[in-house]
Amino acid sequence: MSYPACRAKKELTSDKTCMKKLVDQGGGSWQCEVHGDAVDGPEYRYILSARLGDHTGTSYVTLFNAEGIAVLGTSADAIQALKSANEAGAEEVEELFNEKSFTEQLVTLKVRKEQVKNEDKLKLTVIKVRPLEGETLVRENKVLLAAIKEYMMA
Ligand SMILES: [Zn+2]
Repeated sequence: MSYPACRAKKELTSDKTCMKKLVDQGGGSWQCEVHGDAVDGPEYRYILSARLGDHTGTSYVTLFNAEGIAVLGTSADAIQALKSANEAGAEEVEELFNEKSFTEQLVTLKVRKEQVKNEDKLKLTVIKVRPLEGETLVRENKVLLAAIKEYMMA
């Protein structure tokens, strides 16, 4: 669901962070393969697997950090803190996931064909999530109405 990522800057002149997976050394100490001791500890980042559905069917997709935050409305760090806090925290996380299930969003997917054991498989990654409301909802309903009209004419 998420992984402990290195917070160090990728390069001194860059604002981008390293984001490599940190290895837990125990006793609150973390190690990055590039930056060594990660003294600030990890930033948890999402790698979520979700099932999306529309009128054509359902598919499994992957969501990374920004899209995970857009869907769940909270950071992977906050989720991790709740989960490791106590039983009530873990229940709160479960409630959040239940609450966010079966919600409608407008998503943009990146689709890549991959070969797995000589079989073509489609790998779907969510690259943008927008709430289905306001002008977006109006526009999407127009697309849907046009599709229904076309279906009725056929
Ligand atoms: Zn690093």
